[in-house]
Amino acid sequence: MSEERKRAGQRVVVVGAGMAGVQTAVALREQGFTGSVTLIGAEPHQPYDRPPLSKAVLLGKAEGSAFDIDFEALGIELRLGVEVTGVRPADHELDTAAGPVGYDSLVLATGAEPMRLPGSDGVPGVHLLRTLDDAERLRPVLAEQHDVVVVGAGWIGAEFATAARDAGCAVTVVEASGRPLAGALPAEVAAPMAAWYAEAGAELRTHTRVARVEPGAVLLDDGSRLPAGAVVVGIGARPATAWLAGSGIELGVHHEVVADDRLRTSAPDVYAVGDCASFPSGRYGERLLVHHWDNAVQGPRTVAAALVGEAPEAYDPVPYFWSEQFGRFVQYAGHHAAADELIWRGDPATPSWTVCWLRDGALVAVLAVGRPRDLAQSRKLIDAATPMDPALVADPAIPLKKAIRA
Ligand SMILES: Cc1cc2nc3c(=O)[nH]c(=O)nc-3n(C[C@H](O)[C@H](O)[C@H](O)COP(=O)(O)OP(=O)(O)OC[C@H]3O[C@@H](n4cnc5c(N)ncnc54)[C@H](O)[C@@H]3O)c2cc1C
Repeated sequence: MSEERKRAGQRVVVVGAGMAGVQTAVALREQGFTGSVTLIGAEPHQPYDRPPLSKAVLLGKAEGSAFDIDFEALGIELRLGVEVTGVRPADHELDTAAGPVGYDSLVLATGAEPMRLPGSDGVPGVHLLRTLDDAERLRPVLAEQHDVVVVGAGWIGAEFATAARDAGCAVTVVEASGRPLAGALPAEVAAPMAAWYAEAGAELRTHTRVARVEPGAVLLDDGSRLPAGAVVVGIGARPATAWLAGSGIELGVHHEVVADDRLRTSAPDVYAVGDCASFPSGRYGERLLVHHWDNAVQGPRTVAAALVGEAPEAYDPVPYFWSEQFGRFVQYAGHHAAADELIWRGDPATPSWTVCWLRDGALVAVLAVGRPRDLAQSRKLIDAATPMDPALVADPAIPLKKAIRA
């Protein structure tokens, strides 16, 4: 152990006890940090994982998704049910509902908050799906087989619709744009996914906006009225950074904390990680704001390395996420732009297919539906910016790792 005996006597405070905050605290200990580690989280529950909330937890197939971590044994002080209301970087101090807390180094890991449907606050039967409490409120909706209206055909909307159909609810999904996942995928890729809704018995209404929500019904802008025992709003999430107002810490256009490639913020000794922060990607030549689980697992290692006094490499991951919807395992790795060359690998009318994106001949992103091997191989190929042979890529019988340009 070197680096001033791994920062003995130093106090690291992590704000936000979700995946990114928890992983930061754990990674600090794994990397030999001997100072104090305090993890402050607003939610009263033992820290838990979010992906199961829209899957097994919602359907009652799992009670919860608490992390299996012995915080006490790791010497991590957990302060749960405590909201942090502000930070004064010049004083190295946080303001919390339970009084001020000093730090030597601070990690911001407050994640994201779901966007609310304007005018729906306080209307009975309107739900969001971000927290364990949200999932617990939604369980009886499924168990009692209410008619459900889902607002937004994004990742959360699709997963909730899947669970609600599994539970036997009548499901209508209302989407303002012309297709599901409009913000994430091009029209030709999202088009076959629209069919998954009908196949599962859910009605997808695109080009449709909610005009008003009232108890028991959703009124649409085309004048129709949908009966709704419950309304689930899945229209996106935004970084939970309102509490940083006035701190002087730089925020970006999406209200996210602007971090550098070592995940340092504009304030001294303050880092940011997970859903609340963006970072510059050298790999993609743009700033990325990633709202996916893998980023909340990987970023903390960079932060912990910096905090123990090592010089971490630039944080520049190949982004990865998965979604389980309508009986399919959907995975995406990398990052594509509209100008990238899109190659189909398989027929989207069949249960499993892949789409690859090439930039200047090199693989930059892959979407795999029911083809986990494609995804696993592509992560390495994308990482190495491997030049590919488009004709071989287009043949689903040829493993991607064998489709490299000669
Ligand atoms: C229902 C659901 C399903 C998902 N499924 C998938 C999936 O299948 N695949 C995938 O890749 N990703 C999935 N995700 C995304 C993934 O879970 C997130 O990217 C990940 O949880 C981000 O972790 P985080 O720690 O940055 O933020 P969060 O998990 O949001 O944790 C932040 C924590 O900080 C706390 N906090 C916020 N403000 C304060 C404050 N001022 N003071 C104290 N505490 C505060 C919050 O209460 C929260 O507990 C899913 C997300 C949801 C909601």
